[in-house]
Amino acid sequence: MFQGLMQQHSLMISSIIEFAERWYPNVEVVSRTTEGPIHRYTYKEMGVRARSIADALQGLGVKPGDRVGTLAWNGYRHMELYFGVSGSQAVLHTINPRLFAEQMAYVINHGGANILFTDLTFVPLLESLADQLEQIEHIVVMTDREHMPATSLSNVQCYEDLIDKGDSSYQWPEFDENSASSMCYTSGTTGNPKGVVYSHRSTLIHAMGSSIPNGLGLSATDTVLLVVPQFHVNSWGVSYAAPMNGCKLVLPGPAMDGASIYELLDQEKCTLSLAVPTVWMMLTGYLRESKAFLPHMKRVVIGGSAVPEAMIRSFEADYDVQVVHAWGMTETSPLGTLNFLMPHLQNLSYDEQMPIKLKQGKSIFGIDIRIVDDEGRSLPHDGSAFGRLQARGHWVTSGYYKAEGDDSIDADGWFETGDVATIDKDGYMMITDRTKDVIKSGGEWISSIEIENLAVGHPDIIEAAVIAVPHPKWDERPLVIAVKEPHSAVDKATLLEFLATNLARWQLPDDVIFVDELPHGATGKLNKLKLRERYGNHQLPGA
Ligand code: ADP
Repeated sequence: MFQGLMQQHSLMISSIIEFAERWYPNVEVVSRTTEGPIHRYTYKEMGVRARSIADALQGLGVKPGDRVGTLAWNGYRHMELYFGVSGSQAVLHTINPRLFAEQMAYVINHGGANILFTDLTFVPLLESLADQLEQIEHIVVMTDREHMPATSLSNVQCYEDLIDKGDSSYQWPEFDENSASSMCYTSGTTGNPKGVVYSHRSTLIHAMGSSIPNGLGLSATDTVLLVVPQFHVNSWGVSYAAPMNGCKLVLPGPAMDGASIYELLDQEKCTLSLAVPTVWMMLTGYLRESKAFLPHMKRVVIGGSAVPEAMIRSFEADYDVQVVHAWGMTETSPLGTLNFLMPHLQNLSYDEQMPIKLKQGKSIFGIDIRIVDDEGRSLPHDGSAFGRLQARGHWVTSGYYKAEGDDSIDADGWFETGDVATIDKDGYMMITDRTKDVIKSGGEWISSIEIENLAVGHPDIIEAAVIAVPHPKWDERPLVIAVKEPHSAVDKATLLEFLATNLARWQLPDDVIFVDELPHGATGKLNKLKLRERYGNHQLPGA
């Protein structure tokens, strides 16, 4: 083989903080702290402290491959751990504090960390879990001496004391780029959460691949408010991509309400932010009430669940902020697709563009997607054929941590996302359902999400869930479970009549049940498992 004559360096997470420290030393990182005040420092100071904490970890006996857990909001100390832990060849296990207590204990034990870093907020939670945590030897509270809490936890240390013990002349080691760098567990709406293990290589390529203009489009002219949590999927990779691009970074800590988010967006002159729809709902509610505007903001990236049309219109028309709809998941690091309008679509009227904006978007280089039928045959990109969405690429999982009999990846490396989607002729992907939620009626698939979206379009319906119920003739038929406005006169007949204007006869639900509230999971999504347990055997009329 005639080999290229170029240098080869391992793709190391530590190289990101080294770069930011060297080339963007004075760019600020601004954090709202759990203690209350706003904290400011620079990438230079972050680099120094990341090396100190890396060195201090060695002092605690942390070895390559050891897991170090975090239970923390978005903040500068969490950033230091992102680099200090992974950069010293240990593995950062970020834990989602919104999981149910038993799931959290499962995740901590399964991940195998001996050291846990926690924000002040989660100390009481850890106290209640302490006797279930099998191998934790040290707990480090991410605060200073002055704010250290009285606690029943044993082997507790103070973060600032620990960092003082570390030597900032620590040298980042270079090692195999395929080494594990961090771990995150899926939300576990079905069964136990599953562990996804990222590598230095996948993390670096994801951060570079997601920074490009067709991706998040980050640059040193941006100030990024990172609302997506550092405790889930590495905050969509932005904790790495922001220093890589020299962006000023703003971290909101525990305060996600509209007023607090607005305050940071405004005072720090943020140009870009990323969050799930529920956070934006709170912000736009606040903006309307207080008649505030977003003069500095250029783009919001929204993903995690589908973006409602009203949200796109509000951001773009009322606040002149471009919405970028994105899709991804824990197993895909997470960025999979992002929605930008290609030039020929920009000539359409705004109303004609809307159905495209509602789609989850196009693949970015580095991750490929396809849709297949039940036999695994590829389906056409015609915008109507829908099938199982699969993904493969540099930052897609190759298997879950300690998973036996894992069948989520096929022989060609395609990962089964569990989503059902269409892809149109321009390559825009649209999620129509989760595989386990789609309703299979007489050989045809009915999208539960489509019916839910239509149902909430009724002015008296607050929230709706659609599940499959067994049917002797058609296998499965849709059932609507809905929450209506108090005192509303809407009933089954009027709701079905309303749905019939947009659905074919065979797609129309067979029954409607009204309830006071619907169950939700740890990431705020509808818990359809609970609904299926409760209503899965509902007797449909005429069945
Ligand atoms: P997260 O908790 O960040 O949403 P998960 O890995 O737990 O990540 O969930 C990923 C799933 O969320 C996807 O498989 C998909 O079903 C759903 N999802 C993510 N983004 C979107 C989106 N833009 N529209 C619809 N569903 C989405």
